[in-house]
Amino acid sequence: MSQSDMLFDAKHIWHPYSSLIKPVSCYSIISAKGVYLKLKNGKKIIDGMSSWWSTIHGYNNPILNKALKKQIKKISHVMFGGITHPSAILLCKKLIKLTPKKLECIFLSDSGSIAIEVAIKMLIQYWEALGQNRTKILTIKNAYHGDTFGAMSISDPNNSMHKIYNHFLPKNLFANAPCSNFNDHWNSNDIISFKKIIKKNIFTIAGVILEPIVQSVGGMKFYHPIFLKKVKELCQNYSIPLVFDEIATGFGRTGKFFAFEHANVIPDILCLGKAITGGTITLAATLTSRHIANTISNSSTRCFMHGPTYMANPLACSAANANIKILEKNQWQEQVSNIEKELNINLLPLINHPRVIDVRVLGAIGVVECSKFINLELIQNFFVKNGVWIRPFRKLIYIVPPYIISIEDLKKLIYIIKKSLDQNIFFI
Ligand SMILES: *Cc1c(COP(=O)(O)O)cnc(C)c1O
Repeated sequence: MSQSDMLFDAKHIWHPYSSLIKPVSCYSIISAKGVYLKLKNGKKIIDGMSSWWSTIHGYNNPILNKALKKQIKKISHVMFGGITHPSAILLCKKLIKLTPKKLECIFLSDSGSIAIEVAIKMLIQYWEALGQNRTKILTIKNAYHGDTFGAMSISDPNNSMHKIYNHFLPKNLFANAPCSNFNDHWNSNDIISFKKIIKKNIFTIAGVILEPIVQSVGGMKFYHPIFLKKVKELCQNYSIPLVFDEIATGFGRTGKFFAFEHANVIPDILCLGKAITGGTITLAATLTSRHIANTISNSSTRCFMHGPTYMANPLACSAANANIKILEKNQWQEQVSNIEKELNINLLPLINHPRVIDVRVLGAIGVVECSKFINLELIQNFFVKNGVWIRPFRKLIYIVPPYIISIEDLKKLIYIIKKSLDQNIFFI
């Protein structure tokens, strides 16, 4: 990778949320193994991000690689219209087994955002089949559900990422996000706004969509499980389907296999993505109940109207099967709980730093909320120089490391975060 390649990249290739005039600075990664990303100069840095919550078993994992190689020799891709294949069937069997009994009908798609679009379409078609024109989705503020239009329309309307498109987006309903934190006492006022909106719009709400417990990109907040219980009660009272977006939290990240287990609340539709293939290939799934699937299938159209070209891609399905096989050994529980312990011991005390307003830990998620906005460019450079990969946003420095990280490497991530807090120039 030459200097001119890097200039080409900066001039021609968009990166996530970036400008082509003032491109984000990029680091070239030539390979990776375990929790280490290798830079082009040969330097290895510890990954604190799991490539956005996905690489839970580390990079270049031999079991995932083996599954991919085995599949590639048979078939890399085949259309899913009129055709099925063993890897998709095995994956759907596994997903049905892993999720609550009620969820038994599966739509496979390409990415998290699309899994959300699919869920929204299911809700609209469900009510259409029942002869009702319901088009509003109820959610809460500070939500993030992806970057496609339907997903943006239920993400925080004041989020700077999506604000530009507001005039184009369907108008959905936003209740106040709960203020009671995961470990706080439950404040019953937290449900008032949600209750008011649901009562006022009983006959236009098609469904409720929430990220259970963890609001990720919307501020890395962990809210109280009782909020989900109250939401479920209201949804049941008014027969409104409840959708959980477990795209970030699914597959063990919060210490439970699914975050909704913290509240013992079961959704009618469940969206999965990110870690589903152990961070190897893009794949997502939307699961629902027989009741919703049958209702949609009894409608005038009788079909669920979605069908991506790469639906149920065999390579992605076989990677997902291998990922689940690794998880089934159940070491993730110990791995996540060891990460949580270490974060509690060494990350939580950063609360005493004058620049920090809050530190939160849940499972293998550690969040440091600073009092000022962070200069991403400068802090990123500092992190890489010091041998770690952490990508903060707004006022938040957070880590979601691979489950296989050693305590020693985790200590290093925390230590470098601590060091970064002492540098004035990183905070605006
Ligand atoms: C990442 C994410 C999405 C979107 O998934 P993509 O694969 O990036 O489209 C949706 N919801 C949540 C909670 C996410 O974290």
